[in-house]
Amino acid sequence: MKKLHFPDHVYILGVRFRIQIDKDLKDEDGDLLDGEMSRQKGNVIRIAEDLDTRRKWETLIHESLHAILDVAGGKYSINSADFDREETIVRQLESGVILLLEQYGKEIVKHLADERKED
Ligand SMILES: [Zn+2]
Repeated sequence: MKKLHFPDHVYILGVRFRIQIDKDLKDEDGDLLDGEMSRQKGNVIRIAEDLDTRRKWETLIHESLHAILDVAGGKYSINSADFDREETIVRQLESGVILLLEQYGKEIVKHLADERKED
């Protein structure tokens, strides 16, 4: 598979998140992480450097789902005290979104891009 350019930022509902590839990404307990989304550290999605390319993209989707929930906020916002619940929801959505993209990703992107051009 040819090496794909990995993005250095992503817009989540209009909010810019920097994408940072980090060595030894760990949580506050010192456990290794695949990825992390933070708004306290200036809207950043951090992804572990040692993941293979597919896992980096899966992690970007996963962390983007956390960011969508956080940015959208409102009554669907899941507060940090209920992080396990949010993590469960995000993992379920991640699996479903990735399967959808594997089946129809090219068609979805093509038609969404076409619609945008027609505006
Ligand atoms: Zn997560």
